[in-house]
Amino acid sequence: MTTATATRELTALHRCDRCGAQAYVRAVLQSSGGELLFCGHHARAVESTLRPQTSEWQDETARLTEKAQSTVEA
Ligand SMILES: [Zn+2]
Repeated sequence: MTTATATRELTALHRCDRCGAQAYVRAVLQSSGGELLFCGHHARAVESTLRPQTSEWQDETARLTEKAQSTVEA
């Protein structure tokens, strides 16, 4: 059995499919194996409907808190 969807850390190069902000959640669809990226905001917005259809839900939103502490951006 291969692990084609091995966990990869999300970086600043990963962008939300909805708004283009930095992505903190990676979702892999069960049906197609397609990969979707979401920022923290949109991940929460779609999680209840989308997550049951995914084989993987990689949530790195905890890193948002760390970033907020080191980056002051109003
Ligand atoms: Zn977004």
